[in-house]
Amino acid sequence: MRIGLGKDSHRLIEGRPLILGGIVIPFEKGEDGHSDGDVLIHAIADAILGALGMSDIGELWPDTDPSLKGMDSAVIARKVGELARGRIENIDTIVTLERPKLGPYKDRIRENLATLLSIGKESITIKAKTAEGLGAVGRGEAVEAEAIVLLR
Ligand code: MG
Repeated sequence: MRIGLGKDSHRLIEGRPLILGGIVIPFEKGEDGHSDGDVLIHAIADAILGALGMSDIGELWPDTDPSLKGMDSAVIARKVGELARGRIENIDTIVTLERPKLGPYKDRIRENLATLLSIGKESITIKAKTAEGLGAVGRGEAVEAEAIVLLR
């Protein structure tokens, strides 16, 4: 067994879509970033790469590469899913976001991530939390995600 840990955060700004696990969540702000800023996919990808003993997404998909501007993070999810094909035991994640409530979207996000990673939906779990008004996330200025993965 091998374990991997990943974490990501992005600033939330107006005029950008809020994308989590490849699903667009209706909201007045979204993630700023060189790519689409999908913090959940980025955290999961880094967890998988860590468990594989590889580098990190910043090295594989550098934010200085102009050809990656606006990149759909589904590309990253599919690629790390390929690298870990058949070896993912489970992935557990936490998304910390003050608003909106993610409850209504969690199931769709899980389904989409399972498809992108080619794993069963039962192998991925998402916990949504708020920051209780504390810090940048608590002020609604940022969104964070953490992920842990176990590979066989
Ligand atoms: Mg990121």
